[in-house]
Amino acid sequence: MQKKKRRRIVIKVGSGVITDSNNIAKERMLNLVSLISKIRKNNDIILVTSGAVSAGYTALKLDRKKGISKKVLASVGQPILMSSYKSKFDIFNINISQILLTEEDFDSRVHTKIFQQIIDTTLESDILPIVNENDISTTEDQLFGDNDQLSSHIAHYTNSDLLVLLSDIDGYYDANPHENPDAKILKHVTSIDDKKLEEKHTPNNQFATGGIVTKLKAAQYLMSKNRKMFLCSGYDLETIGDYLLEGIHEKGTLFSSK
Ligand code: ADP
Repeated sequence: MQKKKRRRIVIKVGSGVITDSNNIAKERMLNLVSLISKIRKNNDIILVTSGAVSAGYTALKLDRKKGISKKVLASVGQPILMSSYKSKFDIFNINISQILLTEEDFDSRVHTKIFQQIIDTTLESDILPIVNENDISTTEDQLFGDNDQLSSHIAHYTNSDLLVLLSDIDGYYDANPHENPDAKILKHVTSIDDKKLEEKHTPNNQFATGGIVTKLKAAQYLMSKNRKMFLCSGYDLETIGDYLLEGIHEKGTLFSSK
């Protein structure tokens, strides 16, 4: 019998999910790690995590709005974040690696190939790669500046089947649900109006950089490459568990052009 091909899935977790009032949300992180340990049995997982700036603030109170302070906070927070992940993945005997990227890592075939090889070798070695944007060397005018779009590029260049965005929101609504109580969640999105991609950014949390626009841009990019994206809650992990472990899509928004 032919062996079922393992899917490759990028899971991106937002800072609102992984931190709480400038601290690592340990229980939520543990729940996520525990779920990843199950999903990993039949899928290759690449984890993209925000939260370094917020975690840095626990140790150092600097104004994150100032460019340099934000970089310093990220440099302080990145090891705090990773050690928190490490202690939790240790419980499940999962080895992790840290990969910090900027958009230059995708600016040429040579760079992209190096990144692909790092990911391939890491996954073949049964190690879970944990990726974040390298805030230290990123400049304001660079393309990403948010992990949503970074994750969409990672998903494409690693030939992943799916990007999952675990957010503070449980899906994409026909209007901002924090401003419109009647907003309805969209279960399946097959195309995105260009106007939606030009709207102002609407992050819900002081440490979030994206808002829905960066998520739509990530979805648009992936759909143009014939790949899929799933947006759902990072607080209630049942949705993602159902979708990835059971193939059940009840909540959350699937973006796919087909
Ligand atoms: P994360 O840190 O998880 O990436 P963000 O705060 O950056 O999350 O983005 C999600 C937020 O985008 C939601 O909490 C909501 O405030 C806002 N938002 C604006 N418009 C919409 C919409 N149409 N559907 C869903 N969320 C929206």
